[in-house]
Amino acid sequence: MTASAPTALPDRSHGLLLDDPHFDAHRSQGHHPERPERLLAARAAAERSGFRWTRTPSRVPSFDELLRTHAEEHLARLEAWRGRQGNLDADTFVAPGSVDAAQRAAGGCMAMVDAIYDGVDDFGLALVRPPGHHATREKAMGFCLLNNAAIAANHARARGAERVAILDWDVHHGNGTQDIFWDDPSVLYASLHQAPLFPGTGLLAETGGAHAEGTTVNVPLDAGSDDGVYRLAFEQVVLPILEQFDPDFLIVSAGFDASYRDPLAQMAVTPGGFGWLAGALASMHTKAAPRKTMYVLEGGYDLVGLEDSLLASLHGARGAAFSAAEMHDPGLMVRTASRALRSHWSGLDR
Ligand SMILES: [Zn+2]
Repeated sequence: MTASAPTALPDRSHGLLLDDPHFDAHRSQGHHPERPERLLAARAAAERSGFRWTRTPSRVPSFDELLRTHAEEHLARLEAWRGRQGNLDADTFVAPGSVDAAQRAAGGCMAMVDAIYDGVDDFGLALVRPPGHHATREKAMGFCLLNNAAIAANHARARGAERVAILDWDVHHGNGTQDIFWDDPSVLYASLHQAPLFPGTGLLAETGGAHAEGTTVNVPLDAGSDDGVYRLAFEQVVLPILEQFDPDFLIVSAGFDASYRDPLAQMAVTPGGFGWLAGALASMHTKAAPRKTMYVLEGGYDLVGLEDSLLASLHGARGAAFSAAEMHDPGLMVRTASRALRSHWSGLDR
């Protein structure tokens, strides 16, 4: 069976929520998969979760705050796009409100780090657009203008975090985040991603610069990898490394395009799989306490896949149990195809 629901719902949980109508102004003129409706799905998940949310208002960051993460030339180029419509590259559009949206997303992530370090809550969910993990120090790319997760990590460092871990389960490799922390041993970047796939980076051999060898962790996975593969990768690679690194702040670059429903990739992760991954992160054996965790939305382009996967992740992050038996579903892709073709052909309802 498909693991779309946890075996036991957690008690009514709580957390910080970043959301801002400015994020909806980032809208392509033609069809683009990175669209405002994605946030409607994410908001629905936050609502359905039953969490008691404390709102974190977004804010516009200072130039100096962004300079911790991005090059001056990149920030100046972006600023020149304010109020304009166009394309930075074949994938990456800007609308008149996009630069403001990107800045508020980045500043909102910093505000959430502040709220966590001020003791308002130890868990946060940043529902931001545009996404961030492909944005390098020097340039925008792959739908991303500013690197929200990296900006949050640098802000956590400024607030006193000694070791920050960024776990990126977006189906694409977060080349921007890797680039930014390549030679920084205080920020561990770990990515599970489909390979080969855009942007083509994230090879096993990429393990960090001379001052930070080992703190870039890449786990490239074959197309078609399912809950069981992700679980294995977590148990045998990701969790042991995270536990040894012992972060005092954890950022999840939470893209949901490894969902079995996603149109931009070919993975087979179910909501139950995401719930299990989130639960595993929440119950890591790390020394740092209390644990501070923040989820930052990245990709995820099927609205149902995004909503259900985020919902399960929230439940997992707050202690719901997702069993291995529920996760194992070898017939999932066949049943998905059968459902999709049912309106054209009979006999596909088994
Ligand atoms: Zn992605």
